[in-house]
Amino acid sequence: MRTFPPVLTKAIAEFERRYGQPPTHYAVAPGRVNLIGEHTDYQGGFVFPAAIDKYVAVAARVAPEMSVVSSSVEPEPAVFFASNPKKDGIPAWSRYVSGMAWAMGPGRVDIQGHVESDLPVGAGLSSSAAMEMAFGCLWREMEGLLISNPALALAGQRAENEFVGVQCGIMDQTASLFGVADHALLIDTENPSAPTPIPLPEDVALVVCDTRVKHSLGSSAYNERRAEAESAARKLMVPSLRRATLLQVESSQAMNEKEQMRARHIVTENSRVESFVQALKAKDRDAVRHWMRASHQSLRTQFEVSCFELDAMVDAAEHSVGCWGVRMTGGGFGGSCIALVDRDKISGFVKQTEAAYFSATARYPLFHSVSAADGAYAAAL
Ligand code: ADP
Ligand code: MG
Repeated sequence: MRTFPPVLTKAIAEFERRYGQPPTHYAVAPGRVNLIGEHTDYQGGFVFPAAIDKYVAVAARVAPEMSVVSSSVEPEPAVFFASNPKKDGIPAWSRYVSGMAWAMGPGRVDIQGHVESDLPVGAGLSSSAAMEMAFGCLWREMEGLLISNPALALAGQRAENEFVGVQCGIMDQTASLFGVADHALLIDTENPSAPTPIPLPEDVALVVCDTRVKHSLGSSAYNERRAEAESAARKLMVPSLRRATLLQVESSQAMNEKEQMRARHIVTENSRVESFVQALKAKDRDAVRHWMRASHQSLRTQFEVSCFELDAMVDAAEHSVGCWGVRMTGGGFGGSCIALVDRDKISGFVKQTEAAYFSATARYPLFHSVSAADGAYAAAL
């Protein structure tokens, strides 16, 4: 028997309050934090995320004519026909819901639903993939659909790429769906259907350090980086940068300087993922710190997706008590860093990091201490 996270209890109660009858089904999907392997998932590379104990929860029942889904953080409900959703003229957030109905194939049943979440939005914890996987699991359960987890993750990615219009890779949906409590997932994005759970040291907490900054060039720069990486792969004549060696990258005359920098990051980051996993298994603090720092430096100097605030956060956290290692996580240009911190030193770590970050940036950061959690699921009530 699973215990309900508080947001699920809230979603069920709020559904009843809003719609005047109890829900028949629910789904819960976790966010994720990526420990290492950044900007590699759209080039067939390795990533190492963990699903976290912060969730999107939805309570629902079948509706007769059309779908109406509300969210506690959105003034307008999502209203759509699940059998044939349209992407234009609807509130932006509702595309994550109706996009899932669209990506799971025509003919989805209409639902009445309500969403509650304790996942911060846009902080790099992938609330978007959690939305997709919550509704994916919900429809699968309500209709008894025979969709495998790998196919559901792909449907989520397709919803986000083609219905929402964000060119994400497959990492976020895979992490949200395949998460294992107390483990991070080693995912080979060439074969994302078989992640390997790696146990996290018991005495280490995952602390998300939110810079509280989101620079607006984020999404255009993300698409630009993807394009540069694709162009680098073409010029190196490899199907993806996963298949390129560092020697090829360093000796190629075909790429321009930016392409070479992007390729250098992706190729070295792939090997850092492997080294980091070994370091974590061996509980080797120095090596953990080294590989996280190297990842951050490469994202800063070669992939050019860090920013002043992310660098300030890494500096602040690295010198704080109990810190094993820290790096930016997620797409970059703001958002969060991830730090591995001794469980018994979390409050000291937070205090010191907050003070140092504030004195460098004049901003108050936010911290979320999270644990690695099980993946998304749905059930009848
Ligand atoms: P991230 O995935 O890093 O949190 P994104 O910009 O990719 O940030 O996705 C955030 C978007 O997902 C929000 O702008 C909103 O449209 C949708 N979303 C996330 N959580 C919720 C929620 N609880 N209710 C409604 N929409 C949500
Ligand atoms: Mg997202």
